[in-house]
Amino acid sequence: MSEHEATDDSARTLFERIIAREIPADIVHETDTTLAFRDINPQAATHVLVVPKTRYRTVAELAAADPALLADVVATAAKVAELEGLDNGYRLVFNTGADAGQTVFHVHAHVLGGEQLGHFGR
Ligand code: C5P
Repeated sequence: MSEHEATDDSARTLFERIIAREIPADIVHETDTTLAFRDINPQAATHVLVVPKTRYRTVAELAAADPALLADVVATAAKVAELEGLDNGYRLVFNTGADAGQTVFHVHAHVLGGEQLGHFGR
């Protein structure tokens, strides 16, 4: 890590702080490359976020740069669904950009389930 990266804390996102255990989170599952933790503002009975430990801003950037890591994120989401008992199904959401309401620019998959979900849209 360069000196600039080491001192420029403002460039780090909330999720990097959670990965570094600097901010507490309710962690559900962890692998070498991913971390899954509960969303603090759940939008479904089960609402877990899955992040790659390496930061990419969006799922498209992740897919272009490291498709194996994107596969790890999806596999961790499936493991979370298993651990949470989402046997009837679940939804994976990658909000991308402002119109989708992306607020944290460290790519994350929302794993939503545990109830019948409404149809998505506006
Ligand atoms: O897709 P988007 O960027 O909007 O998702 C960010 C998510 O991070 C939100 O669902 C928000 O509730 C969640 N969050 C969290 N813990 C925080 C801050 C935000 O789980 N400390």
